Amino acid sequence: MNRDGWDGPYMVVECRKALSPSRLPGIDYALNPYSGCSHGCVYCYAPEVTHSDWKGWRIPRVRQNIATRLSKEIGPLNGVIGIGTSTDPYQYAEKRFELTRQCLEVISHKGMSVNIMTKSDLFLRDSDLLSGMRHAIGVTITHIDDAVSKRTEPGAPLPSVRLSAMKDAVDNGLAVYGLIGPIMSTVKGSEESIVEAVISTGVTAVCLDRLNMRPLLGERLQRMGISTSDDSVNRMRSLFVAAGLDVADAFGEGWHEQLLSRA
Ligand code: SF4
Repeated sequence: MNRDGWDGPYMVVECRKALSPSRLPGIDYALNPYSGCSHGCVYCYAPEVTHSDWKGWRIPRVRQNIATRLSKEIGPLNGVIGIGTSTDPYQYAEKRFELTRQCLEVISHKGMSVNIMTKSDLFLRDSDLLSGMRHAIGVTITHIDDAVSKRTEPGAPLPSVRLSAMKDAVDNGLAVYGLIGPIMSTVKGSEESIVEAVISTGVTAVCLDRLNMRPLLGERLQRMGISTSDDSVNRMRSLFVAAGLDVADAFGEGWHEQLLSRA
């Protein structure tokens, strides 16, 4: 896998449904143009939740008919669509297949709101569509040290790329927020520099996400010497609050309304 030019592997599949009911507060429907994710984050619990093989999860399944399905399902619906609730909608496959962009085109015609979560700068490509929609875009930052990212998110765009994309998004008037997490023991001692880097992008809202230690995931992370860090969560929260940013708990009650109201 190559960070600069994605070269697969992938599988092309057909989906029977585009939207599924969301269990995240404030999000009515979940939309995932891909299943599986080439970013390969060591803290990913999606394979465990979906009962998938962890290595197989890194091979994205390209749901090639998803925009067609979406256009059939969306007619009677209203509310908020969460894009990328289980995989990154702007992972490298999106550069080639543009399924997320096709779905945004469908949603923009319907006038529904979106909350997008990604580790990629590729969302900037869709600024033209996003700027005409009610939207919130969460860019995930787990660290600002590229070396740490290469170890923990080996297939994802580097944090430096993400931070630069956040700044560009703010400058272009997009409603972008920092999705800080999962906050792991890897950030110990770097909390201040991470907070400073995020603030320097110009975002005015962040969500803090604690590390979710599910059983199999916990074993893997333990082998890597990675654990949760409540101290770091609390430290970063106070630093963001002191700097005047809006701080929410990711996926907690009210988090989404708080973010969308800024769009
Ligand atoms: S970006 Fe999200 S879905 Fe993809 S591997 Fe990382 S944690 Fe899993």
